[in-house]
Amino acid sequence: MTEKKIVETTCKSCHGGCGVLVEVTDGVITHIEGNPDSTTGGTMCAKGLSSIQHIDNPYRIIHPYKRAGEKGEGKWKQISWDEALDTIAVKIKEATEKYGPWTVATSQGTGRGYNRYTHRFSRSMGSANVISPGYICHSPRIGLYGLITGYGRLYCDYHGWGGEFPKTQISWAKQLEISSADSEMCYWYMKSLDYCKNLIIIDPRATAYTSRATLWLQIRPGTDAALALGMINIIIQEGLWDKEFVDNWTYGFEELKKRAAEYPVEKVSEITWIPKEKIIQAARLFAQDTPGVIQIGSSLERQANCGQTLRAIIDLMAICGNIERPGGMVSWVLPETGLIEDVFNEIPLTDEMRSHIYGGDKFKMGAARTCNPDTIIREFNKGEKPIRVWISVGGQQIVHMANTKQVVEGLKKVDFMVQVDQFWGPMAEMSDIVLPAAHWLEMDDIYDMHPRWFIEAHNKCVDPPGEAKSDAWIFNEIGRRVVPDYWFKDVETLLDYELRKAPITWKQFSEKIISGCFGPDQVYYKYKTDYWRKGGGFPTPTGKLELYSTVLENLGYDPLPYFEEPGESPFSTPELTKEYPLVLTTGFRSPFYFLAQYRNIPWLRSFMEYPTMQVNPETAKELGIEDGDFVWIESPRGKIIQKARLFPGIDPRVVAATANWFYPEAPAQGYRGVFISNPNVLTDNNHQDPMYGSPDLTCLLCKVYKCQPEELKDPQYAGIFTTEHGGKPWAW
Ligand code: SF4
Repeated sequence: MTEKKIVETTCKSCHGGCGVLVEVTDGVITHIEGNPDSTTGGTMCAKGLSSIQHIDNPYRIIHPYKRAGEKGEGKWKQISWDEALDTIAVKIKEATEKYGPWTVATSQGTGRGYNRYTHRFSRSMGSANVISPGYICHSPRIGLYGLITGYGRLYCDYHGWGGEFPKTQISWAKQLEISSADSEMCYWYMKSLDYCKNLIIIDPRATAYTSRATLWLQIRPGTDAALALGMINIIIQEGLWDKEFVDNWTYGFEELKKRAAEYPVEKVSEITWIPKEKIIQAARLFAQDTPGVIQIGSSLERQANCGQTLRAIIDLMAICGNIERPGGMVSWVLPETGLIEDVFNEIPLTDEMRSHIYGGDKFKMGAARTCNPDTIIREFNKGEKPIRVWISVGGQQIVHMANTKQVVEGLKKVDFMVQVDQFWGPMAEMSDIVLPAAHWLEMDDIYDMHPRWFIEAHNKCVDPPGEAKSDAWIFNEIGRRVVPDYWFKDVETLLDYELRKAPITWKQFSEKIISGCFGPDQVYYKYKTDYWRKGGGFPTPTGKLELYSTVLENLGYDPLPYFEEPGESPFSTPELTKEYPLVLTTGFRSPFYFLAQYRNIPWLRSFMEYPTMQVNPETAKELGIEDGDFVWIESPRGKIIQKARLFPGIDPRVVAATANWFYPEAPAQGYRGVFISNPNVLTDNNHQDPMYGSPDLTCLLCKVYKCQPEELKDPQYAGIFTTEHGGKPWAW
């Protein structure tokens, strides 16, 4: 007799969070749909909906393997879990004893809950060398919110829980409408637009919503700090700032006023390529039609001026009084479980751990809890051995880090690497041991991405294929072998421990599905009460929101925001511009892929088979390029192939390439095609943000020219641009 059940769970095909109903028939998933009773009202995106093709994918890694040839040769031998885990434990212990625990690093992809385990594992070992992509994603924002307001996370209040919705919304380098990395934000953002009077889009390209926006500021990539400072200057010059908030609750307004005066609108217009009338209009709307929010996109964190750009944007939010007010920027009250992240915060970083954070002496803000990945690669390429054992979960550093060729050369020199993953990709091909990871439909875990007002349960729906295991299980088992005092009997005990503050057990939580501090219990205007400090104020050294940062000043940084040209631009490198005349940005997201993932999911790949480079039709005509042509994009560091898309919504001086691309169907040799189309072959890893070490991934120079048909027939592209090996290997 057929047995059918519906499992309530939570998607994690991006950072996660959408509520899902999963139909399981005789132990097999037969249908997935959004849960109408969840925080996302039954909505899901293509990535989550395609999950059946993910878990049933014939290319999944389902056993542990050890390398049986040279790195990148693609020769593997299947081994048992015990052999894999014991080998890893021995390598870690050897490296720790001989060279120190800081030579053992964990690394990860974008946040997926396994953050908790990479950090706990590293700290329990005595190392703070976690190699995270946070410095080009979300960490600078969180760190700077913490610095300026004293509290780590501010979110756009789209919910209306305090009685108001944002009247003016700035979507700054963000496209929540087509690709939300954080599930419920998209849903609430779109609902909040019903109440939004002014939508301002700041983006180098036309986006899905520019046609419905009040204003679209088409900005030159990498000049966002100048725009924010220019808007601050207009607001101050015209007397539009929130005087009550600024006078009573901020520190350093006069200094900020003086700094902003260095950015008159004419100069800002020249820098940003935005007409000055539009800059003035945007500043007035944001200051006068409050409350307002600014939704920031991670493209800003992929620039070497990112720290000061974010500082300027946060100061812009603040002088308009948009902090902690309903419909403004709010730090959410956490659910009763508190910070699930405390599972690693409870192991403090010691001075010794801090002193061994690679890049920590230079990129002091980035070193708050992770190391600088580019510094490590540079050290390897100088002949040093900063890391002896590298345990990577889910990430593709080879794909997302700047200057792919140097990253590959550096990683070849690591003594011992482990990759925990679901599919063969560049990092797996670089590794010595590969461990098979379970999908979110195959594991129990807790969703707490970017801690905010709720957490949710990932409930296991089916068993993983072969011998695949959850990330929590894998780290717990390695931990039990290396530092047993910090790890747990089993995963359920670990999850119980993470939930203990509620108190609630994993079993109870998995039935409850969600724990949150819903609307009426949220607290606004915390700084007017004893919430953060007795008598009111912000938990900063001055007790005020620091427009002028005393913490940055003490660290030796400029306490006020400023603009700096990208490392390569028509203004900073005019000579180079003669050979590479186009500005290249690589920041835009696709609704079908999440960073380097999902090119091997047939339904998703069918929407976008090849990476596309958007180019203005006027520029394309000058270059002799037609829509659909394969083109070379070249920078001083290399060249890649993408498919041209003629797009009037981009400035004729700018082109936009699809980021994070490798070909899972490509052979292991060549690291699964990572050099063919990945824009990071073009990016520079030497020009970095002074605070966070973020390189210029989204603003550099390039030239573009047509790729000749015979070039695509080169044997190295067989099966990718030609079909002589049976068509499209990803379309199983
Ligand atoms: S937005 Fe994220 S959590 Fe929601 S369905 Fe898509 S991938 Fe899943």
